[in-house]
Amino acid sequence: MVASGGLGAVMGSKNLKAIVVEGGGPVPIHPDRVSDFKAAVLRWREEACATGLGKTVHEKGTLGLFKPYHDKGWVPVKNLTTNQLPDEALNQLDWSYMRNELYEKVPKACHACTFQHCHTVRVKEGHYKGIVGEEPEYEILAGFGPNWGIHDPGAITMLNNLNDNLGMDAKEVSFLISMLMEGVEKGEINKENLDGIDLTWGNIEAVEQILRKISKRDGIGDVLAGGVMRTARDLGGEMDDMAVYVKQGNAPHIHDPRTRWGTLFTQVISNTASQEGMDMTSRANPELGFTEPTSEPDAYLAEVQAKTGPKRQFEECLVFCYFQACSLKHTVYTMNVLTGGAFTVQECLTVGERVINLLRIYNVREGLVMDDDCYSHRLGERPKDGPGKGKSMNPTFDRVRAAYYQSMGWDEKGVPIPETLERLGLGFIIDDAIIQK
Ligand code: SF4
Repeated sequence: MVASGGLGAVMGSKNLKAIVVEGGGPVPIHPDRVSDFKAAVLRWREEACATGLGKTVHEKGTLGLFKPYHDKGWVPVKNLTTNQLPDEALNQLDWSYMRNELYEKVPKACHACTFQHCHTVRVKEGHYKGIVGEEPEYEILAGFGPNWGIHDPGAITMLNNLNDNLGMDAKEVSFLISMLMEGVEKGEINKENLDGIDLTWGNIEAVEQILRKISKRDGIGDVLAGGVMRTARDLGGEMDDMAVYVKQGNAPHIHDPRTRWGTLFTQVISNTASQEGMDMTSRANPELGFTEPTSEPDAYLAEVQAKTGPKRQFEECLVFCYFQACSLKHTVYTMNVLTGGAFTVQECLTVGERVINLLRIYNVREGLVMDDDCYSHRLGERPKDGPGKGKSMNPTFDRVRAAYYQSMGWDEKGVPIPETLERLGLGFIIDDAIIQK
């Protein structure tokens, strides 16, 4: 929960492992709207089960995203040196095989969730038979699997649980270790740089050793604990060209996002080091006025991010699971019957816009500049294969970023202008923006 954005580091520096909040009271429903609320919840569930993401996660877990994402060229393989896998690997990493044959499983869902997509599993066959732990999510399956040249789902399950127990961010270790493996393959580094560990593609035992070293800052682990970008710069040579990160050293979500424009762009311009808006590379959102997917990185992508960011940030304020999102109209209706409120959809989008601008001004005050809305060399490279072969965001990125700033009511450096802040009721922070200029 606190890995990205630096909060995990702050907590770690204070030896704070977790914050647990417990409550025993009921969540009150507005007394005049109880039956409306119950009907709204049922409709919410129907809508959520019918979205592409909801249907997949409900029926197959996020494991079910693996094959369709692979077919779109979005699965990271060997540090983005490719995004294609042989059929044999696809069969091993297939959700149906894993859920129905590899695992014995019991649901372990979040409180009161009817989707129940999370499971505790026991591996029934193979070298890792007997391992008990959490079923990997899609990003772990990809990031601890093909991104490291590993196709054994039992091994991925073991490594996922090891990493969880060590308390480390999966995104950062995925792209850190894949970068080191590529560096070894290309002769940029060798065993001597890694305390004698033979970190070649697919070497599961070597990954285990490296994870433990990072968590204890033991030997080379002290360097690697700096994450992808800092490690690349410490090791020098061509390593920075292999590093996968956005902004000033934040590993992105575990995809090959080079042609998944929305996923890449929303993390590049993000103020939270995660996905601030929505990816619509292969889908539309008529509710927000977008009838076409963002099939190219052009001004349309900027407009989509400027509209989907407020939607997503408003939804984040309601603290519900993103896998179970329904239409914005019904989300607002449900909130109103629960609370007895009378918010309009536009007012709710303004709440989301206010969140983004508040975060932006905070970051600007702390030193964020336009050049921090950026991505690493590797993320701008053109895929050598897959459906996105030969495409890159590089040629249009500056224009898209400028168009996004303009759509948000920000100046050419990405700083919210006073009129925007006044419109959002944030006039009290204008001074913070002016100080930065
Ligand atoms: S709340 Fe979301 S993350 Fe949790 S089990 Fe349900 S669908 Fe999965």
